[in-house]
Amino acid sequence: MNKLKLFFLLVIITSNAGCNFFARDNSVTISIEEDQKSVETVVGITKKPMQNDDKKNQEQYPNNFLIPIKDGCITDRPELLPGSPRTYRNGIHEGVDFYDGFSCTKIDFGTEIFAVDNGVVFRADIGYIDPPDALIELVNDPNIKKYTSEQKLDIYRGRQIWIEHKNGVVTRYAHLSGIAEDVKLGSKVIKGQLIGFVGDSGTPESITAPGTENHLHLEIRQGKDYLGSEIQIDKMHQYYLSIFDQE
Ligand SMILES: [Zn+2]
Repeated sequence: MNKLKLFFLLVIITSNAGCNFFARDNSVTISIEEDQKSVETVVGITKKPMQNDDKKNQEQYPNNFLIPIKDGCITDRPELLPGSPRTYRNGIHEGVDFYDGFSCTKIDFGTEIFAVDNGVVFRADIGYIDPPDALIELVNDPNIKKYTSEQKLDIYRGRQIWIEHKNGVVTRYAHLSGIAEDVKLGSKVIKGQLIGFVGDSGTPESITAPGTENHLHLEIRQGKDYLGSEIQIDKMHQYYLSIFDQE
């Protein structure tokens, strides 16, 4: 085994030892020249040198998602992008937020939301009712900063639509005020189809200061994590731009 292989083995062992969370904050990028090919890895987060096929798939999809709000854009503000620190969920925001004033167009309660691509709906919270007691409990939970269970995170996202696209990519549209009439469990939707409406459901402000948190939180997921979870925050805007069609 040469020294380079030994190095990669050590990186893999280190990342499997559960260091991912810490690596996210303290990550260091190292470049190594191997046979004149540059191989990049992030300490604590293993990044295999990509095979040609992997590279092709990654370039293929997703790469031309529709911006879900008419005339909207992907904000360049890091705190509204995935990977940004939060005081809940062990610290990481997992979606792109579309807020009035930051996303190139007017966004308000009731603004229309469109499917980013063709897909099949596998969750549509049609009969959703805000749970005020659960939201107040979340705000007052002393442990919320350390750990937020998946169940509590789900309360935070309020009324949602989840759509499965090709290659196992899933989009989640959160904090909705309503769902379009023809969108229900199992519905096939096409790219650009009206699916729902912006709201503030699930936010603590929907109880404490109604009308101040209207926005769309859009998550794009593949496997267990959000797309781009291995990417550093300063490169996240560029990465998300590359997923969407920005005309
Ligand atoms: Zn968000």
